[in-house]
Amino acid sequence: MTNVPPRFRCPACGFAVFNRRVPHCERCHVALPPSLLFDAEDLQRLEDEAQRLQRVRDDLAREDEAEQARRRHRRGGGG
Ligand SMILES: [Zn+2]
Repeated sequence: MTNVPPRFRCPACGFAVFNRRVPHCERCHVALPPSLLFDAEDLQRLEDEAQRLQRVRDDLAREDEAEQARRRHRRGGGG
């Protein structure tokens, strides 16, 4: 029961990649691209997670910027 879809093949030697947890070809030991190692679903999940983290980071940066602008304004406006 090792029916490997043709897309899971080593780009260098064409060897079928049976174990996609191994990050290199088991025959020629070339590093395999991540698209071979993960399912599309896994990749989507990783991308979603990365986007979520990026959004949190953006929010924090924006808050920090607003806070700095507020302080700058207060300090500059005082007489
Ligand atoms: Zn190979």
